[in-house]
Amino acid sequence: MMRLPHFRYRAPRSVGDAVSWLAESPETTMILAGGTDLLPNMKRRQQVPQTLLALRGLRHELASIKFEDDTVIGAGVTLSDLIASPQIRDAYRGLWQAASQVATPHLRNMATLGGNLCLDTRCTYYDQNYEWRKAIDFCMKKDGETCWVATSSPKCLAVSSTDTAPMLQALGAKVTLVSARGERVVPLSDLYANDGIHYLTKARDEILTRISLPRAEGWRSAYWKLRRRGSVDFPVAAAAVAARFDGARVIDARIVLGAVSSKPQASNRAAQLLKDQHLSDEVIDAAAAVAAEVAKPMDNTDFELVWRKKMVTSLVRDALREVRGDDMRARRRQIARQLLL
Ligand SMILES: Cc1cc2nc3c(=O)[nH]c(=O)nc-3n(C[C@H](O)[C@H](O)[C@H](O)COP(=O)(O)OP(=O)(O)OC[C@H]3O[C@@H](n4cnc5c(N)ncnc54)[C@H](O)[C@@H]3O)c2cc1C
Ligand code: SF4
Repeated sequence: MMRLPHFRYRAPRSVGDAVSWLAESPETTMILAGGTDLLPNMKRRQQVPQTLLALRGLRHELASIKFEDDTVIGAGVTLSDLIASPQIRDAYRGLWQAASQVATPHLRNMATLGGNLCLDTRCTYYDQNYEWRKAIDFCMKKDGETCWVATSSPKCLAVSSTDTAPMLQALGAKVTLVSARGERVVPLSDLYANDGIHYLTKARDEILTRISLPRAEGWRSAYWKLRRRGSVDFPVAAAAVAARFDGARVIDARIVLGAVSSKPQASNRAAQLLKDQHLSDEVIDAAAAVAAEVAKPMDNTDFELVWRKKMVTSLVRDALREVRGDDMRARRRQIARQLLL
């Protein structure tokens, strides 16, 4: 049995207390939300903070969903509560689909949206227990020096594996980061860096407190995810598409890929191809092919990397057909069945 290392547990009762306690030792403290990613990582000694700062006692400040000018979702909202909201399901269909496909119902009861956005990057050579990693002399991301995926790479290539980040980015989300120094609001796309170790641009003393989404009038969205088991598995490629329509004509669009690099990867060129167009099969095929150009999958997740790259085209195509209004339920079932064979 893998045991947790020793750590100090601190339970603030307000965001104000949380940020001032975090400022005392930001390098050795980590934020604990649902713990569904962080605690298994600690058991495997991938992350060994001396102190955990728990957000559980801040639910009164961090766990609400408000539909105002913007839709404001607290970072402490659980994924189960998020997908139980009929307004989220109706207005932000792609977000509902992405959150519904994270892990399992039990994990979603604990897992928070903030934790999902700050999820550690993943890699076959890293998501292993301590003894396994020691046997290969560790790797650059933790305790070692070499990247076993690309031995000449100067940076870690671990994969951004969050389901909600690409979709929220496609929906134009912004996040609020709070520290003892003050508060700032940044586009979600700016929260991420294409580096498997330093994958978040937020400072270590900042807490993500809320996610704001612009109103969804005129927008339709869809999220398509590749994973081996439909019941539980991280994405190994994903397509998040949001398009704004005037009748049948697209007037704005965003396409963001998940799990193909160390950050959610937008394809502005593919999105541009959709503007002022009706979503014919030809337009969809052209945009899907262009979107796949930015995908740079590496050999460090499930499935063969060349096939994963090919599947990006297929995922974007399916997501675009869904926002066009096609009934894609049979196609979703077909893919899930094929992957299990
Ligand atoms: C079996 C299994 C399957 C899984 N499948 C998926 C999947 O398919 N898709 C997927 O996306 N995830 C998956 N996960 C990972 C995880 O369950 C989810 O990503 C979950 O949403 C993480 O949220 P949490 O609240 O539990 O985060 P935690 O584990 O508490 O934290 C995760 C990270 O975020 C940081 N953090 C948390 N909250 C904040 C905050 N407010 N501000 C700043 N930093 C913060 C923590 O310090 C930590 O680094 C899976 C996990 C397991 C164990
Ligand atoms: S990509 Fe390389 S450095 Fe990063 S976790 Fe994998 S093996 Fe380690």
